[in-house]
Amino acid sequence: ATLARKNLTIGLIPADGIGQEVIPAARTAIEAVGSDIPSLKFVDLVAGFETFTRTGTALPPETVESLKEECDCALFGSVSSPSRKVVGYSSPIVALRKILDLYANIRPVVSAKQVSPVVGVPPDVDLVVVRENTECLYIKQEELRVTDHGKEARATRLITERASRRIGQMAFDIALNRPRQAMIHKSNVLSVTDGLFRETVRAVPDIEPKYQKVTVMEQLVDSAVYRLFREPKVFDVMVAPNLYGDILSDAAAALVGSLGVVPSVNAGDNFVMGEPVHGSAPDIVGQGIANPVASIRSAALMLHHLGYIKGANRIDTAVDSVVREAAYLTPDLGGTARTEDVVNEIVKRI
Ligand code: ATP
Ligand code: MG
Repeated sequence: ATLARKNLTIGLIPADGIGQEVIPAARTAIEAVGSDIPSLKFVDLVAGFETFTRTGTALPPETVESLKEECDCALFGSVSSPSRKVVGYSSPIVALRKILDLYANIRPVVSAKQVSPVVGVPPDVDLVVVRENTECLYIKQEELRVTDHGKEARATRLITERASRRIGQMAFDIALNRPRQAMIHKSNVLSVTDGLFRETVRAVPDIEPKYQKVTVMEQLVDSAVYRLFREPKVFDVMVAPNLYGDILSDAAAALVGSLGVVPSVNAGDNFVMGEPVHGSAPDIVGQGIANPVASIRSAALMLHHLGYIKGANRIDTAVDSVVREAAYLTPDLGGTARTEDVVNEIVKRI
């Protein structure tokens, strides 16, 4: 949280679908707090499936070069995933996480009180999922063999001390502002891999004494999901290896109504990329009704992570008041407002 610098150059990658509608909205919100960010600059960049069909690559080298050389951070919209496997296409977001070493996916999930929550769940969810983003089963080492008894498939799961330690540090950093951290694993079954994750994260406060004030609890992933739905209040910061984190963060998003309000950042030591949790929403694209809140919150989260706390808080406060008062809500939240109405109202309040 200490990357703040004098000049801030933000790469904008709307990519596909409603990304083209919500990333410009996020830009407008950042511009509204421009007085808190000296020398603010935006760079328009392309990536995504549409870029692939036009140019033959989903992540052009110019985009990568600009992000590495010129930008301090970026906002990424969403990519439409082709329904069938397309030869030569691979997800630009997965590639960017690798290229920029964005090893943490951070997703705060906060309920907006008036938005109808899942039936039976108390509407007071306020937690952050911190997901390791580089290893676990996602290293995609799979093999298929044909044996005498039929086909047999195997996947390799990688857990390293280095990756577990740095995700642990990231989670403890976030937990400094919140009372508790829950470490999610399944070390009763996977005692070697999850055992290493558990042991390494547990040891982080031994290296960094400032983390010793954080209360650490542990929860097996299955009971974590159960508790998430029964009593989400018990969770503040949840840190997990890649696969459990993936599942937990989508489950947590389901607790707060629309995907249109849930932000995230992909963070590494030298770069941070804001990204709304939702996809390209092909069913509503081009209608001007996409909810811009997830992207605007992602922008605030990114600024916060970079150390522009004041600007980030001004955006969050404006967004929260607009959502709470419910006068300007897009259809996914039960309202009739259009994307631009919501953006205008947020900017007015900023
Ligand atoms: P993709 O393959 O790109 O993920 P998808 O069909 O899974 O596309 P999502 O973007 O994941 O679609 O969205 C799931 C549902 O939530 C869709 O009905 C979509 O319209 C809705 N939705 C997602 N984001 C928003 C948003 N920002 N505003 C309004 N509705 C949204
Ligand atoms: Mg989707």
